[in-house]
Amino acid sequence: MPADSTTKSAFESFLKAACDRLGYSETIASLLSLAAMEIKVEIPVIRDNGELAIFTGYRVQHQSARGPCKGGLRYHPHVDLDEVRGLASLMTMKTALVNIPLGGGKGGITCDPRNLSARELETLTRKFVKRIHREIGPNSDIMAPDVGTNARVMGWIHSEYSAIYGHSPAAVTGKPIALGGSAGRETATGDGIAIVTREYAKSRNISLDGATAVIQGFGNVGINTALAYRKLGIKVIAISDSRSAVYCEEGVDIDALVKRKRERGSLADAEGHKTIGAEDLLETECDFLVPAALGNAVTEQNAGRISARAVIEGANGPLTREADQILGERSIDVVPDILANAGGVIVSYFEWVQNLQREVWPEERIEKELARILGNAASAVFEHAGQSKIDYRSAAFDIAVARVKEALDATGF
Ligand code: NAD
Repeated sequence: MPADSTTKSAFESFLKAACDRLGYSETIASLLSLAAMEIKVEIPVIRDNGELAIFTGYRVQHQSARGPCKGGLRYHPHVDLDEVRGLASLMTMKTALVNIPLGGGKGGITCDPRNLSARELETLTRKFVKRIHREIGPNSDIMAPDVGTNARVMGWIHSEYSAIYGHSPAAVTGKPIALGGSAGRETATGDGIAIVTREYAKSRNISLDGATAVIQGFGNVGINTALAYRKLGIKVIAISDSRSAVYCEEGVDIDALVKRKRERGSLADAEGHKTIGAEDLLETECDFLVPAALGNAVTEQNAGRISARAVIEGANGPLTREADQILGERSIDVVPDILANAGGVIVSYFEWVQNLQREVWPEERIEKELARILGNAASAVFEHAGQSKIDYRSAAFDIAVARVKEALDATGF
């Protein structure tokens, strides 16, 4: 799955279609497709073997009319400026769709974190913050975990930023609880996917009892979606990581797979599970297919063979524009990323609010508020799609684009 400009070009076409439906000018569509600021930095790091390596880091701030930019930081060998641009613009739409007072941003460093020691990763992260600290912060741009980063990395960002500006927990979210992280943030994206799936099923009269799911990706989003689906009674029959995919008709044993991955680094040959090919996984017949790895998992090459009743986009940009169109023609519903995986940014927002107010919310409050905000957004999307006879992604974009435009109008651009 090479990262390229597909997410960005797909975004631009969804955005343009929404602007056309809403009657906005081409200038507005251009403005919404452009980033307000793009940062590129070179980061030299002395490796453990004494050699000097240079990494490239990016931060793109897409829009801040509705609030400070908000979005993840990705560590992956395929990270490039176009990918970060596309992901940043999706964040603007996501925060607008779920109606939280934040804008959109994204960052990344082109590196393979699996080939870096903890010391090298920490140095890389701290140096990245040293390079860009003037442009980030609680009132301007707040980072969070994404592919290849986690609470530990966010902790280093917090520590480095606070060394310059004084204790500033609200400058970054997804931190360890001990540093002001929020209850529920670790599982938030998966929990949110389950909430949206439940609302979708309700709107379509699909019973979740005995429903089946297939999940691509075995990281934060994939694992937590599997755990949250289990609570809803949805049976996850296949799941994969970047190296292997496994299937079990009775439902995969997620706890055993987590243990196996930790101990052996791979899911392959897990007891009681059949090892299958990566493409077979995506084409497995199921109710809900959740691509929760990287972008462009479903393309025009394989969209015709998807056998799911609905695709719930756990990852950002997992479908190319062509794949989206093919699934539409085949009457396979697509619940778009900006709705399906918004649980992460919603609980990040709760973390930011708690940090600013020096408060600690109990887990029950997080769960209740997450379900309320995401439930409202999902209902709005399903209702608008039904009334306007458009697909869910178009409905979600209509709502989000109109909110961003309203804020831009109010600020006088
Ligand atoms: P992660 O780094 O924790 O996990 C990514 C997983 O994908 C890993 O298990 C990796 O092995 C797997 N993977 C990579 N290539 C694969 C392939 N070809 N086939 C199968 N599996 C593959 O990342 P994450 O945080 O879980 O993020 C996954 C996706 O969800 C990304 O698109 C990210 O932008 C999006 N997302 C994440 C969050 C969050 O809170 N972490 C929130 C919203 C959206």
